[in-house]
Amino acid sequence: MHACTKIPYPTMYAAALALREIQSSSTRRREVGIHPCPQCAAFHLTSARSSARNRWTTLAMAAIAR
Ligand SMILES: [Zn+2]
Repeated sequence: MHACTKIPYPTMYAAALALREIQSSSTRRREVGIHPCPQCAAFHLTSARSSARNRWTTLAMAAIAR
C-alpha cells in the first residue's frame, strides 16, 4: 500500500490552523486548500487551486477565524 508522503492532520481544524500559518508567513509553501485523505483518513494540505474553495477548506477556515 502506498504510504502518504504529506503531513497528516487529525482534523480539518488542525489542517486549517497549519494552512493559516503558512499563508500568513513568508514561506515558499503554496498550499491553498484542505482535503481529506482516502488512504490515511487524515487531512492534508494541497496546493491545487481547485481545492482553495472546497467545502472542507471553507468550513475549517471559517471555524478557526472565530
Ligand atoms: Zn494521507
